[in-house]
Amino acid sequence: MRNIYDLTIEELEDYFLSINEKKFKAIQLYSWLYDKKITTFDEMSDMKKIVIERLKEDFSLNNLKIIKVERDKLVNKYLFELSDGSLVESVLMRHDYGTSICVSSQVGCNMGCKFCESGRLKKVRNLESYEMVLQILEVENDIQKKITHVVIMGIGEPFDNYQNVTDFIRIINHPKGLSIGSRHITVSTSGIVPKILEFSTFPYQVNLAISLHAPNDKIRNEIMPINKVYKIKDIMDALKIYYQKTNRRITFEYIMLDGINDKDEDAQELCNLLKWSNCYVNLIPYNETNNIQYKRSKNDRILKFYDIIKKNNIGVTIRKEFGSNISAACGQLRSKKEEL
Ligand code: SAH
Ligand code: SF4
Repeated sequence: MRNIYDLTIEELEDYFLSINEKKFKAIQLYSWLYDKKITTFDEMSDMKKIVIERLKEDFSLNNLKIIKVERDKLVNKYLFELSDGSLVESVLMRHDYGTSICVSSQVGCNMGCKFCESGRLKKVRNLESYEMVLQILEVENDIQKKITHVVIMGIGEPFDNYQNVTDFIRIINHPKGLSIGSRHITVSTSGIVPKILEFSTFPYQVNLAISLHAPNDKIRNEIMPINKVYKIKDIMDALKIYYQKTNRRITFEYIMLDGINDKDEDAQELCNLLKWSNCYVNLIPYNETNNIQYKRSKNDRILKFYDIIKKNNIGVTIRKEFGSNISAACGQLRSKKEEL
């Protein structure tokens, strides 16, 4: 039985038409799901009994099971169990401008980046749209507050699950859904070129972030095996098309790994690579994990790298560190649990 949180508004409208009901019931149902946050269909006081019975026959209203939460002042980290027993995680962050959530898009990830915990588990399956929607709903319920920003940067490669991820965006962006503004939604990819091209025609003003992490193929090949399939030049060519079509500013993520990609000449090479674009570089101090050999760059190295980019007139920030105490880097909570 399909989960009700899996449906876009258009799909729900078609459904109501198919059972000889008016299309506007879709909006009504969305309000019950996402505004009033019902837990049973029976709570919908303005819906006819016969419609409620039909919905019960056709859809489930199951939610996700939270099996662990780590709480800190600025960060909560949630571990969810899905109906097939798979584990995924979400991270909630409190900012001065609102609350953001980092959502997982797959169980495991096939990209196998060497520095990443999530990639240690090969992809088991894609998440369904409702499983992404429910990560947000469950966390909103837990904190009793609205989430204002969504980043699809948890476990998984969102562009390896394109259809479900874009449906998820349609659902949460809808004004009667969770009403999360498209400019407050960011998709992060390791650089799946055909999907970057497809995304350039996606009619929502969603932000795109590219996990670049290296200024040239030599370094990138070493840390991100996907680079052997889609090289930096292929990614840049696709992004030029994306930028032409959308005019949206692109973010490049760059994890600072000690002795691997953090030399002055790497910073300069990165600037040369990006100078065509109106982009933004986000330097990420690497979150060290127990299982992996890489170390975080020293602070003065990160600052020097930052200065070089700034001097080249490229927008750059150093990511504020959240919750390194509570294993907040993606994949860490799940992998800790599976070691138990
Ligand atoms: N698969 C997508 C989205 C999920 S990963 C992608 O790679 O873009 C989200 C971000 O977290 C990526 O930029 C990834 O490189 C980064 N990341 C992974 N492990 C990390 C760690 N231990 N410390 C800091 N950032 C990490
Ligand atoms: Fe997958 Fe992203 Fe981790 Fe790479 S960094 S293994 S693409 S989740």
